[in-house]
Amino acid sequence: MTYICIKCRKTWDNGGRSIEYSGGLCEDCILDYIREKQKNQGFHDCYKRAVEVCSRNDCSYWQLCNKEFLG
Ligand SMILES: [Zn+2]
Repeated sequence: MTYICIKCRKTWDNGGRSIEYSGGLCEDCILDYIREKQKNQGFHDCYKRAVEVCSRNDCSYWQLCNKEFLG
């Protein structure tokens, strides 16, 4: 499946061969999107900036953000 970012129009694929397109947000736009949400919720826009497990585990994105630290 090939994906096209609905925001910046960047395309990428997930390895599978297909002529179909699917819309979504690319990784960069997801970061921007989530950081914007964090700011709106009164958090720092720290999504995916952490280098170790984040202590702000009341953040809605904590699970997603800390996925790679949780094993
Ligand atoms: Zn994008």
